[in-house]
Amino acid sequence: MQNLSPTPAKVWLVGAGPGDPDLLTLRAARLVMNAKLIVHDGLVDPAILAMARAGTRLISVAKSRARHTMKQDDINALLVREALAGNEVVRLKGGDPFVFGRGGEEAEACRAAGVPVEVVPGISAAMGAAAAAQIPLTHRDAASIVTFVAGQCKGLAEQDWAGLAGKGRTLVIYMGVATAEAIAEKLIADGLAPDVPVAVIENATRTDMRVLRGPLAGLAALVERHKVKSPALIVIGDVAAREDNALREVALEVVK
Ligand code: SAH
Repeated sequence: MQNLSPTPAKVWLVGAGPGDPDLLTLRAARLVMNAKLIVHDGLVDPAILAMARAGTRLISVAKSRARHTMKQDDINALLVREALAGNEVVRLKGGDPFVFGRGGEEAEACRAAGVPVEVVPGISAAMGAAAAAQIPLTHRDAASIVTFVAGQCKGLAEQDWAGLAGKGRTLVIYMGVATAEAIAEKLIADGLAPDVPVAVIENATRTDMRVLRGPLAGLAALVERHKVKSPALIVIGDVAAREDNALREVALEVVK
């Protein structure tokens, strides 16, 4: 008699948030604590991986800008292979799986192979960084539009960012540290004022977080001077200076 093929196990695409383990959703925390197999990105904080039970199989598929440990196709294939073999997979990704996380590609690969897939949202770096640095992404006095862009893309110069930043708008750039100079030049060439406030938030929500501020024209120098490293976000717009303003107002009141 022919063997019945086993039902494929499920793949969970799980957002691990920006770093601080307290920022996991309850569902993500439960999945991590009960996982037999976790396939994780380099951005996932070690403190989150430490929540897994002893004996959990941990596979790192860390990617960096210059070095690709595992190609995306190979990651997709790994998820599908494990699920078809009957192993439930917790695929842990930094932030939210569907914000610059290639979660869409992994979900497609699973569906194409008949593997059930479920997505667990996470706090994306923009939300984590905004909260930790107390920079509101929208504010009735400053911005009612927020845009998330990837700064690392090839052909940055050809991309049309016109209108994404400026009065009443907040632009949040992921993966923009290495291209900070080109980004500032591009935005200024598009007509943005060189003195628009900018904040760079490195390692948001982690113990080593840094928040640096300055005008757009000084962005590259700021990144260079402080040796900013990935992961870092760049926030451009009036909201980037709000905390400073608030502090200044408090200081004035004290002086009065
Ligand atoms: N899916 C992730 C983004 C992955 S792209 C999310 O939703 O957050 C990787 C980029 O995210 C990094 O280059 C950086 O720009 C940003 N990022 C991720 N974690 C961060 C953190 N703790 N602090 C600042 N930026 C972070």
